[in-house]
Amino acid sequence: REKAEKFMFQTEVNRIMKLIINSLYRNKDIFLRELISNASDALDKIRLLSLTDKNVLDTNPELAIWIKSDKENKILSITDSGIGMTKNELINNLGTIAKSGTAEFLSKMQDTSNNQDLNDMIGQFGVGFYSAFLVSHTVVVTSKHNDDKQYIWESDSSSYSIVEHPKGDTLKRGTRVSLHLKDEALDFLEEDTIKNLVKKYSQFINFPIYLWSSKVVQVDEDDVDENVPASKEDESKKEESEDKVDEEEDAKVEDAEEEKKTKKVDKTIWDWELLNDSKPIWTLKPSDVEDKDYNDFYKALTKDTQDPLAKIHFVAEGEVTFKSLLFIPKVQPSDSFNRYGTKADNIKLYVRRVFITDKFTDMMPNYLSFIRGIVDSDDLPLNVSRENLQQHKLIKVIKKKLIRKVLDMIKKIPKDDYEKFWKEYSTNIKLGVIEDAQNRARLSKLLLFQSSIQKGATSLSEYVSRMKPNQQYIYYIAGSSEEEVKKSPFVERLDKKGYEVLYLTEAVDEYAISALPEFDGKKFQNVAKEGFSLDEGKKAKERMEQLKTTFEPLVKWLNDILKDQISKAQVSERLTDSPCALVASMFGWTGNMERLAISNAH
Ligand code: ADP
Ligand code: MG
Repeated sequence: REKAEKFMFQTEVNRIMKLIINSLYRNKDIFLRELISNASDALDKIRLLSLTDKNVLDTNPELAIWIKSDKENKILSITDSGIGMTKNELINNLGTIAKSGTAEFLSKMQDTSNNQDLNDMIGQFGVGFYSAFLVSHTVVVTSKHNDDKQYIWESDSSSYSIVEHPKGDTLKRGTRVSLHLKDEALDFLEEDTIKNLVKKYSQFINFPIYLWSSKVVQVDEDDVDENVPASKEDESKKEESEDKVDEEEDAKVEDAEEEKKTKKVDKTIWDWELLNDSKPIWTLKPSDVEDKDYNDFYKALTKDTQDPLAKIHFVAEGEVTFKSLLFIPKVQPSDSFNRYGTKADNIKLYVRRVFITDKFTDMMPNYLSFIRGIVDSDDLPLNVSRENLQQHKLIKVIKKKLIRKVLDMIKKIPKDDYEKFWKEYSTNIKLGVIEDAQNRARLSKLLLFQSSIQKGATSLSEYVSRMKPNQQYIYYIAGSSEEEVKKSPFVERLDKKGYEVLYLTEAVDEYAISALPEFDGKKFQNVAKEGFSLDEGKKAKERMEQLKTTFEPLVKWLNDILKDQISKAQVSERLTDSPCALVASMFGWTGNMERLAISNAH
């Protein structure tokens, strides 16, 4: 390998490798998940290309992942027949991090001492490849892309080299990652360990994953060659197949016809064993899928470590037919709000089981960006570019149905879980009320508020059901905390009369309610705004008129002296104990909105 070119890693790569190795030493086993997921991505890419150009698969029509452990040399290898990497791609993809946000990610990682968070962050950010160094002292990547020769990339994590493969193109197409394991990681050579990890992390990969594994079978005594012990034979098979994955399938024992006549003996044979069932879970009937499988699928999809809070699995029919499986994470994904405005989706789009993209930016509206899941349509064209697909009219139809289904799923969350949901996602729903006019009425049914009467939160329909017979409006007051609004002079009178007042104490509450023209035929009344009156009958009116006359001089004096500060002073019917209150005008900002505007400006 004298001809090998030497390269240094980009600084960010060095930093990320150090962080991964120092912080994830207890979660070493994620390396296999990351490498299998890269293999699967590479297979998705070649399959996507083949939709517009069939010939790309000529180099190897079989799309799969093969795992092999070589105990003698302490090497674990993961091979795929995916798109492969050209020499330039080896340099760019494995030697640099092109992603935007790398610096931000690095500083976030340094702030986190929690292993679980790191694990999640690394998985989500996708610095996956470097996790190979958790278990390896040396990593060798052999890759063959249709457009280039086969190259060998090798690194001990401090620098790397690239050289053309001396034997030519032994991989027909794709990539092999060979891990030269550290001594403390030799357990990853064990068949059982590998099988368990694939089951745990990669069972939902949509390509077959094979493991080169041994089993003992009974064969006719005559068929055993005395001169070649079983193990020796396996070794020679292994060696010759080192670079020729496909030929190893021939390593099967031929069955003799005269089975019954001869004596049977044990023999160890090696073969590719299929580890996963690559039938996508969303193509199954919901009645055939267990909750555990949904949960496992969700975890594999999102790399979340907890089960989802809710899920919905459905087939949509009509203008467009598609299957979908959607989830709500227990915890708001940390990137949901960062993405606000610059968003990317977490919905994977498939067309007839072929993964197309998770980069469409509007499969979900902003306020539902926490939803995770997949959509698989039979009706979208496969042979158009992603850009054209994103513009396709059916995408709009799909999107509309997805939102409805998500809102259905949320509506059906049982009460106990709904509290958890609300704790995480109340802001999303309120933003939805503001942003999504089409679904505003549906969203308003999901809202919860604190109230002057109800312990805990109340929905608007519960409020309406408790309204007094003559009550026309849904009363609310907005402020920065429950303590503050409770003591507000505006609610004194209503409290006394036994009217329920909603406490809007979150920043977006008042905006959300302002976006709602009504609920269940009832308009909203901000008790801190002008024009608010309690219709209390003739007697009360008379009393009011009398008070107005009595206090006319005072009102006049106040209007005079405060004319630069207020628009007008008047006798109020909303106070009982407090002498006066500042009220927003009908179309003006309330004190609460002023406060928000000021704190936003700072
Ligand atoms: P991510 O998968 O999030 O892009 P990784 O660190 O896991 O990040 O991989 C970096 C890049 O290396 C990938 O984006 C891909 O371009 C390339 N790569 C890694 N493994 C393979 C593979 N088996 N086949 C082809 N390309 C690969
Ligand atoms: Mg990856």
